[in-house]
Amino acid sequence: MLKDKKAVITGGIRGIGKAIAKRFCENGADVILCYRSNDAEAEKTAEELKQYGTQVHLLKGDVADPQTAVKAAAMAKELFGRVDILVNNAGITNDKLMVRMSAEDFTKVINANLNGAFYMMKECSSLMIKKRSGVIINMASVSGLKGNPAQVNYSASKAGIVGMSLSAAKELGRRGIRVNAIAPGFIETDMTSVLTDEQKAQAAANIALGRTGKPEDVANAALFLASDLGAYITGQVLSVDGGIIM
Ligand code: NAP
Repeated sequence: MLKDKKAVITGGIRGIGKAIAKRFCENGADVILCYRSNDAEAEKTAEELKQYGTQVHLLKGDVADPQTAVKAAAMAKELFGRVDILVNNAGITNDKLMVRMSAEDFTKVINANLNGAFYMMKECSSLMIKKRSGVIINMASVSGLKGNPAQVNYSASKAGIVGMSLSAAKELGRRGIRVNAIAPGFIETDMTSVLTDEQKAQAAANIALGRTGKPEDVANAALFLASDLGAYITGQVLSVDGGIIM
């Protein structure tokens, strides 16, 4: 479904990003995986993905730094001559009740989750515009749609992702570029493994399908949106949450 497509995936070495990278490679895409710090995990993931016979490249850098996006676009241009698909998946949490949340706690999450996605969209979309085609998928969250206690920073970043995706979809549609967001619910990754059993039970109680999600559940949605199956879909927020929001 993605034969010869060239994809950049931020946070592509663990969790949801890794599952997306796997689906993309299985379906014929060459990928650049951006990550922040975990070199051993990055090498391990790249090695695992080589079984699919497509190109897998790693880029280490903090997406909160605009230079990382400049480097990612330059790397894609040099290696592939283009970017067909950008997945802004990198994200962090730093949960605290608002009264205990410092300005730095707030800004750090916004810088990584929202500003990082903006920098990547800006740099990669300018390559896409030249080819008059491309797909951008931004990772939002149910937290950005319905809010969550102790997550004003994270919810703000993810609500920002939604607004930014809609504006970009309107701006880029006539240049042949589709922009959508995915809003995962509770997905089993390192990010959610830190929650207490009580928090996990509370989250599970609100899931209509009665189970938490797997990274592959989100990866399947990303594959659909990235491929031609999603050719007439832009400016949408696709919830992949087992029915938390409906
Ligand atoms: P995860 O397991 O914690 O993995 C996060 C990935 O993002 C890692 O590869 C990490 O790199 C990378 N990353 C984080 N901050 C970065 C930065 N500043 N610069 C570059 N890379 C950075 O997270 P996940 O659960 O897979 O979540 C992936 C996305 O889905 C996030 O945007 C998250 O907000 C969203 N989401 C997750 C859930 C859930 O239940 N898990 C629900 C809704 C939305 P390193 O490995 O180098 O640290």
